Amino acid sequence: MLEWFLPRGLALRIFAACFVGTHVPLIAYFATSQDQVSGVWTSTVLVGATAVGTVVALWAIGCMLRPLIAASDALCAYANDGAIVDLPRATSTEVRRLIESIEVVRERSEAVIGSLSRVANLDLLTNLPNRRAFVTFAQSGALGADYAVAVVDVDHFKGVNDSVGHDGGDKVLQIVARYLREGVRSGDFVARLGGEEFILVFPKTTPRQAAMIVDRIRDNLFRDAPFRVGEVPVSFSGGVCAANENDPTIDDAVRRADRLLYRAKAAGRNRIEFAPDGAPPDFPGVRAPEAVIEGDLELRPIARII
Ligand code: GH3
Ligand code: MG
Ligand code: MG
Repeated sequence: MLEWFLPRGLALRIFAACFVGTHVPLIAYFATSQDQVSGVWTSTVLVGATAVGTVVALWAIGCMLRPLIAASDALCAYANDGAIVDLPRATSTEVRRLIESIEVVRERSEAVIGSLSRVANLDLLTNLPNRRAFVTFAQSGALGADYAVAVVDVDHFKGVNDSVGHDGGDKVLQIVARYLREGVRSGDFVARLGGEEFILVFPKTTPRQAAMIVDRIRDNLFRDAPFRVGEVPVSFSGGVCAANENDPTIDDAVRRADRLLYRAKAAGRNRIEFAPDGAPPDFPGVRAPEAVIEGDLELRPIARII
């Protein structure tokens, strides 16, 4: 209500506060000096009026500073911790402009941070989350106690590139990514780890159930054959294992799934291997299998057992 009577500009408000602060004792002095009152009474009134003037001036300056201090606190909270604190309401023109500008800067920063973090976590070729997003997801605590992890790798992908070129290979990666994304349930997580390798995480799922889901995707891809090299549909292999909160890091689960993937490659590719109890059987003699391309990309799996 008081603000209706106050000037809009901050400079004028400060001037008004100082004016009132200094003029209350002055007015009191003139009022009392006209009367024939004792010097003691005049001094008492003067001291009282000076105190009142000082309190009024300090109160008025305090009111003017309060939104500035609150705005500064909100800005510091955002600068230090990214915390979004409510901004104060201000009535003076300059402070209101400052607070509105802080609001705009905060919104713009949030939008830029949001889009940068989307780009940083996205695999631009397949539009799937990337390895970085996977690490963030794994560390977020969203996985719960028991879950399953699958590692999937496109078969003979080097041969695909050799036969249909790098762009054709990229197209294959996009197709595989689409099948994986559309084949999992809404709470499951799919990311491209890099190259022709993908990771899938299935919260609250046994390895058997997860393997069934991945195998169904594998089967759909192979049957639909959306991309063929010569007569051969592109396929993938996968390894699925259990993981739980006792794993030191999710990397341990990924390594276990990787070993199962090698086994799937060794067993002929275009298949999924899983370990029902989380501990994949040791398979020490198998190195990462090499694809051998003969003629017009004949898919001939060769596992090198040493
Ligand atoms: P395997 O069945 O044993 O998995 O054999 P592979 O040929 O699929 O595996 P290998 O690791 O020998 O080859 C992977 C190839 O993937 C080699 C690399 O040039 C290619 N590659 C990696 N990233 C990309 C990419 O983003 N686009 C394309 N087109 N090719 C890629
Ligand atoms: Mg491969
Ligand atoms: Mg690979």
